[in-house]
Amino acid sequence: MIELEVPTSTRQELVDITGRVAEAVKRSGVKDGACLVFVPHTTAGVLLNEAHDPAVKSDVIGHLEWLVPEEFTWGHGEGNAPAHVMVSLVGNSVTLPVSDGRLRLGTWQGVMLAEFDGPRQRKVWVTVLAAAQP
Ligand code: ZN
Repeated sequence: MIELEVPTSTRQELVDITGRVAEAVKRSGVKDGACLVFVPHTTAGVLLNEAHDPAVKSDVIGHLEWLVPEEFTWGHGEGNAPAHVMVSLVGNSVTLPVSDGRLRLGTWQGVMLAEFDGPRQRKVWVTVLAAAQP
């Protein structure tokens, strides 16, 4: 497993980590298999989406804010209850295909750390799994 350190700079943001995940896949030496990207936090997650148009990132964050408003009778007293709910919606892991020794994604896809209670230093655990050989 490779641990990436990802600093975030604001309360809520999507940080493109595609290049760092692709590099971890290349360094693993695995030719064919899968890459598990796991975020070990309760107020940050990971998602796969369009990474080219920055408006998509702000639309995703903006819509999650609309779905999970600050104004609610939250039971959790730390002041970050909406962040916990947003991570529940987004999830904490993605599994991606590896072939020909590299990460394979659709043309417009990117892997993004989803920060909902930053700024913080976040960890991302990348595990590259080799497929069984026939
Ligand atoms: Zn909390």
